[in-house]
Amino acid sequence: MTKKTMHIGLDDTDSVRKGCTTYIAALLVEELRGLGVRFIDYPSLIRLNPNVPWKTRGNGSLCLRIQYDEKIERKIKEIVISTVEQFSDLESKGTDPGIVFFCGATIPKEIKVFAKNTISQVVRLKDALRLLTRFRAEAVGFKSGRGIIGSLAAVGETLQGDHTYEILAYRVPENCGSRRRVNEATIFEMDENTAPFTFNNIDFEKKRVIITPRGPDPILLGVRGESPETVKKAFAMVRVLEPVERWVIFKTNQGTDAHLKRVKSLSQIEPYSSVIAKGFVSANPRIIPKRHVIFSISDRTRQVDCAAYEPTGSLRHVAAGLIVGDKVEVYGGVRVAERNRPLTINLEKICVLKLAQKIIYQNPICKKCGKRLKSMGKNKGFRCEKCGSRYVDLQKIETKLKRDLEKGLYMTATRSQRHLTRPFRRYGLEKHRGTVEELIGEWHHP
Ligand SMILES: [Zn+2]
Repeated sequence: MTKKTMHIGLDDTDSVRKGCTTYIAALLVEELRGLGVRFIDYPSLIRLNPNVPWKTRGNGSLCLRIQYDEKIERKIKEIVISTVEQFSDLESKGTDPGIVFFCGATIPKEIKVFAKNTISQVVRLKDALRLLTRFRAEAVGFKSGRGIIGSLAAVGETLQGDHTYEILAYRVPENCGSRRRVNEATIFEMDENTAPFTFNNIDFEKKRVIITPRGPDPILLGVRGESPETVKKAFAMVRVLEPVERWVIFKTNQGTDAHLKRVKSLSQIEPYSSVIAKGFVSANPRIIPKRHVIFSISDRTRQVDCAAYEPTGSLRHVAAGLIVGDKVEVYGGVRVAERNRPLTINLEKICVLKLAQKIIYQNPICKKCGKRLKSMGKNKGFRCEKCGSRYVDLQKIETKLKRDLEKGLYMTATRSQRHLTRPFRRYGLEKHRGTVEELIGEWHHP
C-alpha cells in the first residue's frame, strides 16, 4: 500500500464570542488518528502578522502534517471539511474560514516564502490563490475565503528555524463561558520549577497568572516552552480543578520574534508590517491622554513616531526617559499615517544603544554675594538683583545631568506581549534548526 503525505492548513474559524481554530485541530487529531493516520510532526500553531487590521483574535493558523493510505484520502478531506463547518462561527461577520490540502513530501520554496511574508507583512488572497493553482493544492474557502491565506501560510511555515511548543488543554463544552478552575499557586510553583524552559506563565509586574485565557473559548490553559517533554511535564504540575476534555502539544512560532523584520532605513517601513528599525530620537517624549507616551525618531531618510501605550507597563517609563539625540533600536507593529498622526510604530521592545548628554544651562552666580544672576537679555550680560553688580562678559554655565535611563533592551510587560514576541526568558535559548526526531509517545489526549 502506498503512503501519501498531506499537509492540512486551517485558519480563521473563530470569532470573539465563539470557537478556536486550535480546538478544531485538536478534534481532528483524535478523528484522524482514529482512521489510522500517522502524524509526521506535531500540529503546528502559526501566529501571523499581528498588525493586519482585519485579524481574528489571536491571528493563529494551524497545520496538520500526516501520512496515510491513499484509499482514505477522500474520507480525510470529508472529516476536515465537516469539522470546520460544524465548529466555525460562520454567522459572525469577519469570520471567513479557509482550509488548504497540500499533498507532497516537501513544501515548495515559494509557499515557504509566502508563509514568511504572511507572518511579517500584508499579503493578498490573490497571491495565495495563484500559489494554490501553481502547486495543485486544494482549498476550501467559506464566505470571502480570506482564511485561505492563513491556511496556506500554516502549510508553508515548517518551523525549520527557531520554534517553541505549547500544550493546550480544553474544557468540556458545558463549562465554556464560566470561570476557569485551576489552582493558581501550583502555576507559580510550576513556573519556578520549569524556568527558563517554559515562558509567559506569569506576569511578574502584576504577579498574575496568564496561562488561562478569560474569554468564552474552549481553552482551559496553555503552557509554552522549549520542548514537548517540558510543556507536558509543566502541565502535569498544574492542579486543574475541572474536567479536561482533551489536550494536544503544538509546535509553534510563538515567542520567536518571527514577525519582526529589520529595515535598513526608516523610509523602508511599510504600513501594517512588523519591524526592527534604528534611529535617533528627534522629538522628546510627550504624554498624550490615557497615559500613552509618544516620541519621534529619524534617520537620514525619514521621521516616524513611536508609541508606548499604557498597557505596555514599564516600557512606557523607558520611552518617557528618552531625550533628543539618544540612539535607539525600536521593535513593533506599524500603524498607517492618519489625518492628525504620522506613521507610528507601536512599541513591543526598545533597545537603547547610545545615551545623549543631558545638559542644562544656568545663569552664573554673583561673585560678591553668591546670588544667582539675572540675564539682561541675549548677549547683554547679567545683573545681580541683590547687590546691583553687573557682569557683561559672563556666559551661561553648562551642567551635565545624570541620565536615569541605562543602555540596554527593554520590552513590554508580559501581559501585553504579542504571541510572537520573544520574551527575555528565551534569549539564548533560540533554536537554529528544526527538529527531525520522532514525536514523543503521548503528545495528545484522547
Ligand atoms: Zn550680588
